Order: sequence, then C-alpha cells, then structure tokens
Amino acid sequence: MKYYILFGPPGAGKGTQAGAMAEKFNLRHISTGELLRGEIAAGTPLGLKAKALIDDGNLVPDEVVEGMIEDKFNTVTGVDGFLLDGFPRTEAQAVVLDEILGRRGEALSGVISIMIPDSMVMDRIRHRAEIEGRADDARDEVIRHRIETYHSKTEPLIAFYKSSGRYTEVDGTGTVEEVRERIFSIMK
Ligand code: AMP
Repeated sequence: MKYYILFGPPGAGKGTQAGAMAEKFNLRHISTGELLRGEIAAGTPLGLKAKALIDDGNLVPDEVVEGMIEDKFNTVTGVDGFLLDGFPRTEAQAVVLDEILGRRGEALSGVISIMIPDSMVMDRIRHRAEIEGRADDARDEVIRHRIETYHSKTEPLIAFYKSSGRYTEVDGTGTVEEVRERIFSIMK
C-alpha cells in the first residue's frame, strides 16, 4: 500500500488537488478536516466538542484525529493506498503516524508539500468562503490564527520529513491545472 501525505498551509489547495490525485492513483483521500465537519454535521458528541475548537481556528486534540486515521486504515479496502490531507498537523501526530504504519509493516511513500506565500492564503480562503461557507473561513482573525498555528505547530514537520528523504515541495501558485501537473510529475 502507498501512504502519501499532502502537506501545506490552509488554503494551499490540498483539498482541490487531492481528488484528482486519489482518482489517478487509486488512493483513498482522507481529510481529517472533512471527517470532523462530518461529525459536526451529524451532531455527534465528538462533533459538538470539535466545533468550538474548529470555529476558533484551533486544532482538535491529537488523539481525536489519530483515531480517525487508524480507523480508516483498518476499514477501507479496494484501494492502492491512502492520501492524507490535513494530517499530520503536529509533531506528535507525525510520530503516531509512523507508529501506526510500523504496526502495519508499512512506511510512508512520500510527502508532497504545496507551498504558497502567506499573502496568498488570506485571498484563497476568502474566495473559498464564498463557495463552501465554512465557519472557520468566515472571519479574518480566525484565518490569521490558523496561519499562525500552521507556522508554529505544523511547519516544523517539514524538517521532520525532510530528514526522511521522502519530502518534495511543489509550487502551489498558478492555476489548479498547473499545480496538478507539477504534483503528477512527482508522483510518477
Ligand atoms: P482543514 O479542513 O484541513 O482546513 O481542517 C479544518 C480544521 O479541522 C482545522 O483548522 C482544525 O481545527 C481541525 N483539524 C483538521 N485536521 C486536524 C489535525 N490533523 N489535527 C488537529 N486539528 C485538525
């Protein structure tokens, strides 16, 4: 099985690119953000707890998303691998991911990092807000907090994965198609 991480700041285009990647390479796209929004929409206890954190642009506890990922690995069949979008977001999550893969006798296939400057994040998310109506995209101060959280908690993972030799950066500026071609050329 292949295990890819799609990495990058909020608004980099991870969700947009993931669909085409998953289809082309027969991967299951797992977005922890989408799974959490599903819990909120279904009104589950987990969703109720997560909502306040997500709406304010905070991360949910590591154990919550780690459990979701392991559950998908254990239950999804009929694919050649997984494409993780929005996970891991902390060093603790990255360590647990390694442990989960180790228990399965598997290893990470690659980390693809979509890079866009902070100045573009705000515009991209404002644009997405008009289309998707996400609560956490609606307020500038929440977007700014998510950018800060990315820099303080998630960006350190770049060094973590660079040392593994399976980390590749892709320029995330330009059209959706241009970015997709850059990603596909790496995955081939
Ligand atoms: P996303 O759809 O990836 O932008 O995620 C939306 C929100 O869900 C994030 O701002 C976090 O509040 C929460 N979330 C998603 N993935 C994670 C994760 N791996 N760890 C902690 N919180 C997460």
